[in-house]
Amino acid sequence: MNDTHTTKTTTRDHCFNCGTTLGLDCGAAEPDYNEDFCSIGCYRGTLAKSEHAHGRIGVLNARISDMAAERDELTNLLNASIVANRAKNAEIEHLLAEIDGTK
Ligand SMILES: [Zn+2]
Repeated sequence: MNDTHTTKTTTRDHCFNCGTTLGLDCGAAEPDYNEDFCSIGCYRGTLAKSEHAHGRIGVLNARISDMAAERDELTNLLNASIVANRAKNAEIEHLLAEIDGTK
């Protein structure tokens, strides 16, 4: 049945761009542009979409890079606060020892 079609990886049953069924010889209708697109318009349309997608991916990658830098900055701040808290605890321990020593 359709199993032979679903296992195909290099050819499609439908136009990549508009979904029209490919491979139909309708006589009056113009032939498919190639095995993946029904027309040159769909082929070019997909190229345009892919350029747009490429641009959006570039924007996302820039945002990811910014977020990674922000994460690193916050991680450094947290690490610094951990060190400062350790010093504060040592100071408190020292003061408590002094108080104990005066009793
Ligand atoms: Zn099409």
